[in-house]
Order: sequence, then C-alpha cells, then structure tokens
Amino acid sequence: MPSVAVDLGGTFLRCAVCSDSGDVTDVVTHRIDLGPADRDPQQVWNHIFRLIEEFAGAAHSGLAADDPIALAFPGPIGNHSRIVRAPTVVGQSVEMPDAVSIVGKRTGRRVYLLNDVSAAGWFFLTTERADRFLVVTVSSGIGSKLVDRANPDRVLDAWPFAGEIGHITVDDASDAPLCDCGGRGHLGAIASGRGTENLARRMALFDSASFLRSSCATSFGATADSVTNEQHLVPAAQAGDVWAWSVIAKGQEPLAQTLSAAIIAASLQRVLVIGGFAVSLGHRYIDSLRMSVQRRMSPGLIDVRIDDVIDFGRSPEDACLRGAGLFAASFARKRR
Ligand SMILES: [Zn+2]
Repeated sequence: MPSVAVDLGGTFLRCAVCSDSGDVTDVVTHRIDLGPADRDPQQVWNHIFRLIEEFAGAAHSGLAADDPIALAFPGPIGNHSRIVRAPTVVGQSVEMPDAVSIVGKRTGRRVYLLNDVSAAGWFFLTTERADRFLVVTVSSGIGSKLVDRANPDRVLDAWPFAGEIGHITVDDASDAPLCDCGGRGHLGAIASGRGTENLARRMALFDSASFLRSSCATSFGATADSVTNEQHLVPAAQAGDVWAWSVIAKGQEPLAQTLSAAIIAASLQRVLVIGGFAVSLGHRYIDSLRMSVQRRMSPGLIDVRIDDVIDFGRSPEDACLRGAGLFAASFARKRR
C-alpha cells in the first residue's frame, strides 16, 4: 500500500509519496526553524500539522484518498500512535499533541508514527544482508534500534523506550555531565556530539598544555571554554589532530562498552552508525570505535572480528522517508 511519508528532522520537514516497495516521488522539503528556545510549542505543532495537511490534501499520482500517512519523528513513540517526548521539536515541553487524531481528522487518513531511527532501520532492511543488526545514531544525542528480519515486527520498537540507550547512566559521579533530558551521566551526555564538545572543554581545562599545543588552539583559535564541534574540534580532527582524537576516543569509551554488551547479548551481525556528528568525523571515527569495542572482547572466549560488525550505515537523504513508507506498507499488510 502506498503512503504519504513524512520525515520531521531538526531543520527540515520532508513529505513524499512512498510506494509499497519504498520508492519515493513528489518529495517536498520545507525548511522549518525548530529552535526549541522561546517558541510556543502550540505554534510549532500547528505549523508542522498544516504542512502535512497541505501535502496530503494535494493530488499525487499513485496515491489514493484512503492511503495512510507515516510520520518519522525525532523522539520516542509509544505504540506507533503516541509522541512520548519531543525535545528537538519543542524542548522539554511535557504536553504532547495527539498527532494521530489531529492529522487524521484534518486529512481523513490513518496516521502511523514511528521514531526516525526506526525509519532508518526499515530502510537498512532493504540495503543490508544481515538478519540482525543495530542502528545507532550519534548526533546531538544518541539513540538506537534493533532490527531482526525473523521477528514479525522486524524493527523492535514496540516499547516507547526501545533503543533509548542514550539515557542509560554510564557515569554515576555526582558531577557527571548533564543530559538534555535533565538526567546526569547519561551515555548521550558523554558520547554524543554535544557530550564530546562538553568533554573537550573539560579536558582543555584539565590539561591546558596539551590543549594549547593542539590545532584546535593553534590553527582554529579555540580557547578552553569556547571549544565547539563545528569551529574547532571537528575541523581539527579532520586534519588529524592528536588531542582532538584523544577527546573523541575518550567520549567513545562508554559507547564502546554499551555496544560491546549489545553485540554479544543479541548476537548482532552488524552495528550501523549514522548521525551527523559521527559522519562529520569520517572513517577514523569508526576505526577508533572498532578498536575500543575490540579491546573489550576476550580473545579465545569471545572471538568476534569487530571490523566486520561496526560500520557506517550508508543512507541517502530520503532514507527516513523510504523507511517510513516501508513501515506503513508492512503495518497495513499486518492489519488486513
Ligand atoms: Zn538523558
């Protein structure tokens, strides 16, 4: 069954028609400024729902009036029907709209919600040969989804907290870094893009001599309390700076520990890393993560070649749209 596929990201809302087999057409991209600061959540939601309504109400070849809408959403989703939280859309606002019934009423279509990492998982089912794999996103936060081709659900996201590894406490010190969710010492507060940036500032203050010798300071003009990913850490890392990579590798440690347990516990054939921060650092990010995970295996007892397991998940810009459409098609088939 075709569907209207919608991908809500941090700065874009994309709508498209997705065929049963995951081909997308009529892609429309809206730039939306979703800075959570001082925006009225009600206005933000209305804007998003209006754009979806406009697209779903227009004529599209191959789309029938009763085909569903699948909305890939950057936050935890309950039972494919309820937004649990939406920190990147409306900050820490606790009241979530009933998107399924609002968009459903406005468009006359059934509406399914899924997490955006789930949508990526559905997409990778079409490009990966592995039967069981984990998709991990390393961007401003950290999230994951387990995919198992043999399970009727395929992408295991029935629990609203499925894959929310970014909010596991990995540092229980009383002064551990604060997470976006308000918790302390969470994986996402340390190993994400934002966590690594924060770690760089702390390491620069702790050992300022090493920091001042790094190209973050010498070439890119960073000071200990002004280090940012975009202006200093990422460009220095891309140029091979030793200090920058020591920060990144330190931030990767709790992620490596978490992934080691997941790989062995779930017999994962692949771990596919996506997300802007990891991708911006290129293949050395994966090499460094692989080494850190491999070190945690026990030779002779756990003989896994982590080089064969962890890799970037290569996905085109429309991967989430396609994934959302594939999910809708599968969900509709199951309901018949
Ligand atoms: Zn958290």
